[in-house]
Amino acid sequence: MRKDSEIEKYGKSRRLKYRKFFRLIEKYDYIAVFRHVKPDFDAVGSQMGLYTYLRDNYPNKHIVYVGENSEDLMPQCVPEVKYVDDSFFKEHDVLAIAVDTSQKKRISDERYKLCKYLVKIDHHPEVDHYGRLQIVDEELSAAGELVANILLNHKGGLITRECAFYLYMAIAGDSNRFLYDSVTPHTFEVSIELLKKGIVLSDLYRRMYEEDLSSLNVTRYVLDNFKVTPNGVAYYILDKETLNKLGIKAKQGKNNINVFDHYKGIKIWCSFSEDVEEKVWRTSIRSAGLPIEKIALKYNGGGHAQASGAKPKNMKEVMELINELDEYAKGK
Ligand code: 5GP
Ligand code: MN
Repeated sequence: MRKDSEIEKYGKSRRLKYRKFFRLIEKYDYIAVFRHVKPDFDAVGSQMGLYTYLRDNYPNKHIVYVGENSEDLMPQCVPEVKYVDDSFFKEHDVLAIAVDTSQKKRISDERYKLCKYLVKIDHHPEVDHYGRLQIVDEELSAAGELVANILLNHKGGLITRECAFYLYMAIAGDSNRFLYDSVTPHTFEVSIELLKKGIVLSDLYRRMYEEDLSSLNVTRYVLDNFKVTPNGVAYYILDKETLNKLGIKAKQGKNNINVFDHYKGIKIWCSFSEDVEEKVWRTSIRSAGLPIEKIALKYNGGGHAQASGAKPKNMKEVMELINELDEYAKGK
């Protein structure tokens, strides 16, 4: 790595935190890596990247990863979560590390509460200050980019191809394959270092994005039924009957959102899917440039400038959200 590299510069400015982090790793023999509920590529990628690094570099320690399983991501992108007995947490002093999770209540697996020490590694705008040690930077495109920086600055550590694969997946996921403005020279430099570990990109992208042919029926429905507001907000709505007819679950409703990401005049685009169990409309919002996370926050959500999520409670709130986005996009 070049001495003037973005990776080194970045690491230097955070070296006290990094030192403290690795001192904690040295100190604890039992370590659990957490991430947020309803994981995405960045959540599981940064989690598994950090987990494999610790597992491979500290073979004498007991390292686990936890969280609910995800049909969409497992096992094709990351392995399923192995059962970890309560005794792991109850009978030892455990160091908990939560990645990609801005709010304490969104940590998947409540057993972080049984841990002795909690570290937060995140790239979301700060919602909760919950870690005794916090390594947080909202400028980075992905939690995986931050984890990669920490590991690349840890001299003498081994980053295997498996570890690099997970971290690259995290970055590709949250940056929508390097499309967002959150991507910087640092993002690319980190990605170059990860690529050098031997990742095969065609394999990685196939594992991330390959879908069943039948999903084209959903795309067809979306293309037949989307709407665009006067000021350039494109959206589609999948109610419970439609989801049933198409044979998909509410959480898969957002899979077609990026259909709209490159059309003149479309500034913001959203998907809404009725979640009967949670009695909310699962909402994903994306934007070509206008920051949308503040509006998402008002509708029981949050996220990033160009990619946020929300959970309006009923159709009235869904329409209010669409109108608010439309008003916001006016003249911009
Ligand atoms: P998605 O639309 O893919 O579910 O979410 C897009 C981005 O917004 C992700 O980075 C996700 O973590 C974030 N996000 C989604 N829902 C919430 C939420 O309720 N609160 C916060 N803080 N972030 C969210
Ligand atoms: Mn993320």
